Amino acid sequence: MKDKIVVGIDAGSSAIKLTLYDGETIENCLSPSSWNPKEQAASLLETALAGRGLTKAVYIVGTGYGRLNLPFVTKAMTEITCHARGAGYLLPEARTVIDIGGQDAKAIRVDACGKVQDFVMNDKCAAGTGRFLQVMANALGLDVADIGSIEVDADCQVCTINSMCTVFAESEVIGLVNRGVSREAIIAALYISIANRVAAMAAAIQPLPPVAFTGGVAQNLALRRQLETRLGLPVITSAQAIFAGSIGAALYAWDAVK
Ligand code: ADP
Repeated sequence: MKDKIVVGIDAGSSAIKLTLYDGETIENCLSPSSWNPKEQAASLLETALAGRGLTKAVYIVGTGYGRLNLPFVTKAMTEITCHARGAGYLLPEARTVIDIGGQDAKAIRVDACGKVQDFVMNDKCAAGTGRFLQVMANALGLDVADIGSIEVDADCQVCTINSMCTVFAESEVIGLVNRGVSREAIIAALYISIANRVAAMAAAIQPLPPVAFTGGVAQNLALRRQLETRLGLPVITSAQAIFAGSIGAALYAWDAVK
């Protein structure tokens, strides 16, 4: 077992993601965000290191919106930088990264070395984010993780969700439910709404193929297909896509000590 371990921590709005890296092996773990992310991240770190028989990491890079609230990190880095690096590690062929997390969505164009060339971010409004999907899933009596297992045919559009505002869109969903529109049709309309929103945002950076889809929402394969249609570009993902930020942070931490 190697004892030189570096850590990347992505303190997100929905979950704290942590990556341990020893120069060879990546190990990821996650804990849903609580009311005290600082303590939660410290505890996740302690548990992860204890699993390797360690009490300290040689270097820790923090990223994510809560990165400045982590006193134990060696260095804080922006989400754009870390997500681009992590996505490049997971999906090296990607020339664009689209990350949809809990409360923001970002599109990043990267060069062949994974270096950021341009980016655009929506962190002002919940539309087109995981939070939007979560609120709508709840309005349909579902958990956000279960919505992806419902088969939908988004190419056969029965209804639309027109509101960009999450609160109004939730009312629209409730209205559709009460008109007897099927859950499958409403979910399809939600995917189209999110994919349209994100594709319109990504157009600002002239995305190149293939597009790596990262962040928690990338676990939804139907949404990935819809994004592919709206972008007109192939969209690829990885089972580890939610960890792109923490993996990128860990790789930067390794650069600092190797
Ligand atoms: P953050 O970095 O802001 O914490 P993440 O990248 O961790 O965001 O993504 C969190 C979001 O992922 C949640 O808001 C949730 O809506 C979404 N999510 C979590 N699990 C799933 C899933 N199985 N399918 C689709 N979306 C999911």
